[in-house]
Amino acid sequence: MTFADADLDAALAGAHIPSLLAALVHLAGDARHLADFDRPVYEFFGDGQGNLSADQQDRARTLARRLLIAHRDGAPLSSRPAEAAVRAAMDFIAGVDIPPNYVAFLTNELGLDGPEARRLAVPIDAPAAAKAEFPVIVIGAGMSGLLMATALADAGLPFTVIEANADVGGTWFANRYPGVRVDTPNHLYSYSFATEQAWPKLYSTGDVLHDYFARFADAKGLRQHIRFSTRVEAATWDAGAGVWHVRLDTGETLTARAVVSAVGQLNVPKYPDLPGTFAGPAFHSARWDASVDLADKRVAVIGTGASAFQFVPEIAPVVGHLSVFQRTPPWLGPTPDYHDATPAATQWLIDHVPFYANWWRFWLFWMLTDGILAAVTRDPGWTGAGAISPVNDELRQALTGYVAAQVEDRPDLLAKLIPGYPPGGKRMLRDNGVWVNALKRPNVDLITERVVALEPNGVRLASGAIAEADVLIYGTGFTASDFLSTMTVTGEGGRDLHEGWAGDARAYLGMTVPGFPNFFMIYGPNTNIVVNGSTIFFSECAVTYIAGALKLLVERGVTAMAPKAPVHDAFNVRVDAANAEMAWGAAGVDSWYKSASGRVSQNWPFALVDYWNTTRKPEEADFEIK
Ligand code: NAP
Repeated sequence: MTFADADLDAALAGAHIPSLLAALVHLAGDARHLADFDRPVYEFFGDGQGNLSADQQDRARTLARRLLIAHRDGAPLSSRPAEAAVRAAMDFIAGVDIPPNYVAFLTNELGLDGPEARRLAVPIDAPAAAKAEFPVIVIGAGMSGLLMATALADAGLPFTVIEANADVGGTWFANRYPGVRVDTPNHLYSYSFATEQAWPKLYSTGDVLHDYFARFADAKGLRQHIRFSTRVEAATWDAGAGVWHVRLDTGETLTARAVVSAVGQLNVPKYPDLPGTFAGPAFHSARWDASVDLADKRVAVIGTGASAFQFVPEIAPVVGHLSVFQRTPPWLGPTPDYHDATPAATQWLIDHVPFYANWWRFWLFWMLTDGILAAVTRDPGWTGAGAISPVNDELRQALTGYVAAQVEDRPDLLAKLIPGYPPGGKRMLRDNGVWVNALKRPNVDLITERVVALEPNGVRLASGAIAEADVLIYGTGFTASDFLSTMTVTGEGGRDLHEGWAGDARAYLGMTVPGFPNFFMIYGPNTNIVVNGSTIFFSECAVTYIAGALKLLVERGVTAMAPKAPVHDAFNVRVDAANAEMAWGAAGVDSWYKSASGRVSQNWPFALVDYWNTTRKPEEADFEIK
């Protein structure tokens, strides 16, 4: 390792001190130095330095300087300090004593043995001929489908991926609206075994993410297995032959021993059910029509969810006039660096300080995951409005203050911008001020009156007034509760998956359904997260589990496995009870997380560690195996 002292000093000035101190455990060989520092105490939306005093931060930099220069000049690295030292560093960086049941999970997440050691490889110990007789069809080549394909390639099973789009990337291929970007920090939003250390921004834009997944598909040689621009219309279980017949929109029918749906939840646009017809160009955020020139036009946007929140600030300076129709305001989470380039100091530390990247990712993981669950869990003794517990109310006050500070010069906006539902009821949107700035522009109106109809020249409001527009953009989200709605799935005895669900999708661990042998879902029912973490984590867990199921089928030479109905039902009872305790399950909170019946059909209500633990491998006792 070589570097100039001046570069080191510049980088240390911008270090995340808790990550730096944790990383120093590898240089020091033990965790002795952590005792010289206060354990970080993090605040909602603080600077992340855990309230370490300026003096302590300086001492941390001085220590790091000494150890790093010694290492550069020849001192060896203790790449794997004793387990107790790693535990001490985990407790330190998290700012709490990490519960024992989290240790294996978080050690895996930390990835000290290198990214390749974290691969999802689930080797299948079977003759090549047995594997050759077990073709698998994966539906979708987005983030989850590519993961599943990688696991299948590793396991040596033949597979075909059917992808409706012309390229890989799923949501990052489909969503091309101005401003589209991830809202999970990118150093966390990446496969755990294919971490990218040179993200140009802390939160990448859609094109950069699409490029990441496209490069991943290339590097793994997956494209040769993918049939692009092809849709699955139907999948039918043939119990006699023990296979699925998968009909494509090309007219072909493929046969597979197992089917894995990786179609995602947020891809079928939802359009409001409004009477009338608009005469001008109209499109949905996920079907952005770049051929429509918005310059100087009167544009109407319906919806103020995560998508509109990103494109409204981009188009506001371009359009002539913008009417933003809001039914429910979102909570805004202060994220001043949301649009920032990755700071040079951060990149330098990632590149030069051994294990800094691991610990920084670990910190992002912890802070965004189970660390925040308590703030969105109901306190049965709490009776106040707009919150579900004292800590949730504390969050509400902090977030309200954050918005109020932004509209001091426009008090008329304040009431419109404060949600009535508790923080965590819907996904909080990362905000660096551009949303409110856009709404404050003289050419922008935030309209909270209900839209009741389309008119040729605009939209009609409940009062009868017509808001005129030349272009209409729907930021109205997706039909997320209608899982797998673009295909028919027929299981044992001719059972139709959607008929069985009756609009209320359920599955065991989000992946399997009784009566549908060898049929698996990634990002299926109750595997979405609201506040805690990255969907990539869930997909990795699901793929590990599904690969384990395929291993069981192939190694045992059995034909079919489907979850036992009582196991599935009991799991869903637990899920429903737990979701009722969370902010997103609260009465009066209406969102895409709930099906038409009001049941939370999307979200995982438990800790991430619970999903990790239950998805290490399938429990044979949970399944009917034939
Ligand atoms: P969304 O969160 O479902 O928001 C849809 C918006 O349209 C809401 O404001 C909704 O109001 C409104 N709406 C729906 N139907 C309406 C109607 N008939 N009349 C008036 N308003 C109506 O959809 P989204 O913004 O596309 O985001 C969906 C999800 O995608 C997000 O929750 C997030 O998980 C993901 N996403 C993530 C990012 C990111 O930053 N990485 C970006 C975009 C999307 P109500 O709230 O009152 O229903």
